[in-house]
Amino acid sequence: MNKPTAIVIGAGIGGIATAARLAKNGYDVTVLEKESTPGGRCNQIIRDGHRFDIGPTLFLMPEVWEETFASLGEKMSDYLDLRRIDPTYKVHFDDGLRLELTSDIGKMQEQLEAVDKTAFTGFLGYIAEGSKHYKISLEKFVGRNFYNIFEYFSLKNLPLIVQLKALQKHFTNTGRFFKDERLKAAFTNLLEIGAKDAANFACNAHCPDGKHVILQKGSSATVAELKKRGFAPIEVETGEFIKSGGSVFCLKLELP
Ligand SMILES: Cc1cc2nc3c(=O)[nH]c(=O)nc-3n(C[C@H](O)[C@H](O)[C@H](O)COP(=O)(O)OP(=O)(O)OC[C@H]3O[C@@H](n4cnc5c(N)ncnc54)[C@H](O)[C@@H]3O)c2cc1C
Repeated sequence: MNKPTAIVIGAGIGGIATAARLAKNGYDVTVLEKESTPGGRCNQIIRDGHRFDIGPTLFLMPEVWEETFASLGEKMSDYLDLRRIDPTYKVHFDDGLRLELTSDIGKMQEQLEAVDKTAFTGFLGYIAEGSKHYKISLEKFVGRNFYNIFEYFSLKNLPLIVQLKALQKHFTNTGRFFKDERLKAAFTNLLEIGAKDAANFACNAHCPDGKHVILQKGSSATVAELKKRGFAPIEVETGEFIKSGGSVFCLKLELP
């Protein structure tokens, strides 16, 4: 008997997982990918001997990966040697404050209370809310199928907009848990920066020869600040940058 056939468009991690499950269930699968390599947003760029991951930094939702491997009759641990990184990241502020984001709750308490006596209570509230939102999102959105747009934008889902604070800025919401601006920034990964900070960032990230600073077009205040400091800014279009998790690279440019 002929096998049933399936075509999967896109060889990102979603397409690959789907294709593998279909194949496991007896389908003859063809995967079509428009790029020259599979991976999608989990891909990498190798240029001049340097490797840039263009997407994920954090291995999130391990249970979903485990379940995918299990559905194929495989064990994730046979393929991936995962090691916990703790602290996940370190935040340094220019006034000397340093924070290590760790899963050691005692260490978190010590660090946060040194900044502000109420910060640890805020932190517990912050992670409790995050955990609640995560569970609701998984149950109501991520873990189910929507067969038409009205199932998604349904009356039943309307209260979730409020419950999940979907229309509220993350930075504003974080302010309910932390009073200190530095802690708000650390727990949102967001920081309002002025031209001076932007100039520092631009120099650190894209100053390949100590003179020219490559930066994205459209920030005249940063350009002025850089010139004031004796740098030669080169503004380039967004499309000329290659973005990666947490970093931006400008590889397409020849310096004058
Ligand atoms: C900068 C960045 C940082 C991230 N950080 C994290 C992180 O730390 N942790 C985490 O868990 N996730 C992270 N993510 C998200 C994660 O990378 C994505 O959720 C995941 O890779 C999406 O996989 P996907 O298969 O759904 O889509 P994609 O990876 O987008 O795959 C879609 C594929 O389809 C192909 N395609 C599209 N249209 C066509 C077509 N018409 N014909 C043929 N092929 C087509 C594309 O070329 C692509 O290969 C990050 C993403 C980015 C961009």
